[in-house]
Amino acid sequence: MRTDTNLPHGATEPHVSGVCHSAPLKVDATQKYQSVLLVGPPGVGKGTQGELLARIPGMYHLSSGEMFRQLDTDSHLGQIFHKYATLGDLVPDEITVQIWRDYVAAQVAERTYDPARDLLILDGIPRNVAQAALIDSDINVLKIIYMVCENQEVMFQRIRGRAAKEHRLDDAEEAVVRYRWDVYKRETEPLIDYYPQEFIRIIDADTIPAEVLHQILAAIVPVQKMHFSLSLM
Ligand code: ADP
Repeated sequence: MRTDTNLPHGATEPHVSGVCHSAPLKVDATQKYQSVLLVGPPGVGKGTQGELLARIPGMYHLSSGEMFRQLDTDSHLGQIFHKYATLGDLVPDEITVQIWRDYVAAQVAERTYDPARDLLILDGIPRNVAQAALIDSDINVLKIIYMVCENQEVMFQRIRGRAAKEHRLDDAEEAVVRYRWDVYKRETEPLIDYYPQEFIRIIDADTIPAEVLHQILAAIVPVQKMHFSLSLM
């Protein structure tokens, strides 16, 4: 377990008077990050749902795409990301997982993510079976939210809208967007067979965000309640 804090995941901090702290009900003996994975093609709405979930106490959303976009574009790693992302390719697995580990450790150190209290909502990582195998030692996967949208054009349309709003290089070129779709099919979809089927919840993403959120919450609230004590305000 890589963390910069001295507190093991199960340990609670000294109680600060007047502040309502939640204590974990159960602590995983292996002290892995208790996680939910958001899996689905580009444009299916993982980011939108991740941001909504992040507003809920006891949930911490981590988007690997956002993590990469926060890298200094002049840095060595920033340049590597830029090279792959512009083409629509995945950043190599070992580099991705190392950046992710450092990033999570930093969030723990800064106390923006508290593994003893927060369910980790992973969006965009693991992105293939090799990454899943690499981070098996770091995370305890409690649920896989598999977002599906049969209508490919709906997703391309969303990505075009996002390109205009967010100025993302990889969203701007139609050919790159379509290539990322192929990469998703080839690399990411096989993840669904990697994990035990009872962990997978299929979510119909071809509807309004509130209804998608409703389905996701129905799948993960029981998991959150089972693994964390929720005496949250
Ligand atoms: P989308 O889900 O729309 O494809 P993301 O924001 O998740 O977009 O990712 C943008 C780009 O960042 C990817 O095309 C890829 O180059 C890189 N990336 C994000 N996550 C990973 C990952 N887990 N492994 C490798 N590359 C990644």
